Amino acid sequence: MDPVTLIVLAVVGVLVLAGLIGGGIWYARRNRELPKPPTKGEVSPTRPDGETATPGGGTDTLEAPTDPGAGTALAERPEAAGTRLQRLRARLAGTNNPLARGLLNLLSADHIDEETWEDFEAALITSDLGVGPTTELIDKLRTRFKVEDVRDTDQARAILREELVRLVDPTLDRSLNLDRKDGNPAVVMMVGVNGTGKTTTVGKLARLLVAEDKDVLLGAADTFRAAAAEQLATWGERVGVPTVRSHEGADPASVAYEAVSQGVEQEVDCVLIDTAGRLHTKTGLMDELGKVKRVIEKKAPVTEVLLVIDATTGQNGLVQARIFREVVDVSGVVLSKLDGSAKGGIIVQVQRELGVPVKLVGLGEGPDDLAPFVAEDFVDALLES
Ligand code: GDP
Ligand code: MG
Repeated sequence: MDPVTLIVLAVVGVLVLAGLIGGGIWYARRNRELPKPPTKGEVSPTRPDGETATPGGGTDTLEAPTDPGAGTALAERPEAAGTRLQRLRARLAGTNNPLARGLLNLLSADHIDEETWEDFEAALITSDLGVGPTTELIDKLRTRFKVEDVRDTDQARAILREELVRLVDPTLDRSLNLDRKDGNPAVVMMVGVNGTGKTTTVGKLARLLVAEDKDVLLGAADTFRAAAAEQLATWGERVGVPTVRSHEGADPASVAYEAVSQGVEQEVDCVLIDTAGRLHTKTGLMDELGKVKRVIEKKAPVTEVLLVIDATTGQNGLVQARIFREVVDVSGVVLSKLDGSAKGGIIVQVQRELGVPVKLVGLGEGPDDLAPFVAEDFVDALLES
């Protein structure tokens, strides 16, 4: 072989080798990058400007859903709704939950004296239960402990459980209207202040519905920021449901109307409308929320207006609740971020203030971290954590 051929062969060999190594690195990097956080996810390839296929048919064009948290796909069946609140116990354990700690202190006291009651009262106030409900509970407990001559922990625990459940009110109707009715899909509007967890809750709720074999359609009526529609569409991909969306700055009412129209046409079970985080101080934006509802209802009735309140914001959540109630008929509250150091007492105050039940609670950022609220289970989680 002449030297020129040899050199040519050597150069080709080196190039091929470099290509293989480079490709390998690219492949490895690409795979590593797959589980990206949803906030920066690529624009949903499935729904540019609401061009949706049927929800069922649309799912096969979706990319493999990814779970940024765990890095695993969400192909497996979502956790059943009934077992979810039990996880709250584990979430509360080891956290600085003042209510759970206050209960524990009361129950573990050798002798319940004036000081024990005062400490318990302080714990209740810290847990955002509010002055009214706290006084009510303490009075009731003191009377019952005396009248029933409470001597041991089991007895005390039983009374405590009863009175706490009464306070959280197990008689409220917490059922969610998420089924088709009179030939229309259920239509849910998710409302609330920025950052409370609306978009995340829409995603988690969609997954819960998918678990029940329901056809779901998402509507990205938060057109305030481009990232908002992307975040929602990414959730849609993760849980395998289509998202109707438009461009940044589009009229939110039109997007919502379009989503509901498509839901009606495609005979889906439920349309979930994500809305912008209306600043409750900006009247114009709040009016817009009312408009979104009115425009949707030209097509189909809104069956649930869920107000998302961040459990960690305390009294601020109450202020928000009051203002939102004036603009839309809130039918249920989602108390998000009840995990971590959330206080939980706010449930009682919000229900009293709004006259509307807490229907769902958020227990984390994961796709299965949303649970239907059950008064007894909640109290048990507090007492046993
Ligand atoms: P939005 O502005 O109301 O749509 O709020 P997002 O849905 O974007 O949520 C704001 C932040 O709160 C995100 O980082 C979520 O992951 C987080 N978040 C939402 N719900 C929960 C929850 O139940 N627990 C915790 N720990 N974080 C949550
Ligand atoms: Mg949002």
